[in-house]
Formats: sequence, C-alpha cells, structure tokens
Amino acid sequence: MLACQIVALSGTSSVISACGFPSIKNYLKGGFIMPVKGWIEVNDLYCKGCELCITACPVDVIQLDSSRLTSKGYHPAMLKSDEGCTGCGICAVICPDAAITVFREPKKKKVATA
Ligand code: SF4
Ligand code: SF4
Repeated sequence: MLACQIVALSGTSSVISACGFPSIKNYLKGGFIMPVKGWIEVNDLYCKGCELCITACPVDVIQLDSSRLTSKGYHPAMLKSDEGCTGCGICAVICPDAAITVFREPKKKKVATA
C-alpha cells in the first residue's frame, strides 16, 4: 500500500528526490500532480512542538496534540483527521528535527471499461 516513505533531513530535499519524489521547486512550479491521499507519522522523541509544520502545510491538516505531552514536555504535532493530507512532503522538509515521516498511497490507475 505504501508507495514511498519520505525520511526528512533538516533543510534538504535530496532524500525526497532519492525516493522518486519531486523537488519542492517543481512542486511550486506546478510540475507535480498531487497524490490521492497521504498521511504523516510524528516521532515524539524528536518533535518539540515548534509548529513550523503547521504553518507550512498547504492544506492546514496539522495541529498540536493538546491532549498529551512527549517525554520532553512538548505537545507533539499530529494530523487533524484521516482526510486531507496529500502526502506532499513539505512538513517533513520544513521540520528542523526530522520528526515527520510522510506516506503516500499510490495513484489508482484508471480501469478501462467496455
Ligand atoms: S513535527 Fe517538527 S516542525 Fe512540527 S511541531 Fe514537531 S518539531 Fe516542529
Ligand atoms: S504531507 Fe503535505 S499535506 Fe500532508 S501534512 Fe505534510 S504538509 Fe500537510
């Protein structure tokens, strides 16, 4: 089911490119067709609740989880719901602590009908 796992490294897009994901530059130029669905996982060990991912997400689907604290005392980032994330990877690129892993569903192929 998973098409690509994007491992974020601070301030780089090279890892994303290495797994076949287009660069942010191409994304902004419109050279990228958005996937159907994506989702993120946030590593509590690294997240410090800085909210940069929340600000950067183009579809506003990330929030801090005010119901719990990490072992370091931060409210960690989380998806607001199962819907809306496109798997674009911007949050993973912007996160200074490499706390976000992005997953995408593969695009569904059109099935020919008679
Ligand atoms: S996931 Fe990264 S960018 Fe988002 S709040 Fe946590 S540390 Fe900040
Ligand atoms: S992958 Fe893109 S759409 Fe999904 S949460 Fe991150 S920035 Fe938002």
